[in-house]
Amino acid sequence: MTETDETRFTDASGKVWPKLAPTRTGPFGKCPRCGEGHMFAGYLTLSRACEVCGLDFSYADPADGPAFFVQMFTCVPAVIFALMLEIVASPPVWVHLVTSLPLLLLTTLLPLRPLKGWLVASQFFFKAQEGRLAGS
Ligand SMILES: [Zn+2]
Repeated sequence: MTETDETRFTDASGKVWPKLAPTRTGPFGKCPRCGEGHMFAGYLTLSRACEVCGLDFSYADPADGPAFFVQMFTCVPAVIFALMLEIVASPPVWVHLVTSLPLLLLTTLLPLRPLKGWLVASQFFFKAQEGRLAGS
């Protein structure tokens, strides 16, 4: 049985939830169907299901997506900053410990959870799944 938009946005009690944009739910860790329940059980660990609408999060598999985006858009610029600081000023090691290290940690840890939430919510909203060959 294929899942339609109607069944995807209807919970077990028959309530039909309005379609919420992934940008309104995922980055805030909210359930992509109801927008009220919580998506995460830990910092990056997904819950089994939404406590409000019962959406099963077993479909969610963002794989390396969040790590890739964090590396490309925040981690690389932070490393370039550390390298440029070393090349231009050649400061003592303690300067890197109070500038480069916190910058690297903040730019890698802070965006991971909102990015993972956004990708999981986008998977639900756009019904993204593994590709299959027709007729197989
Ligand atoms: Zn929910």
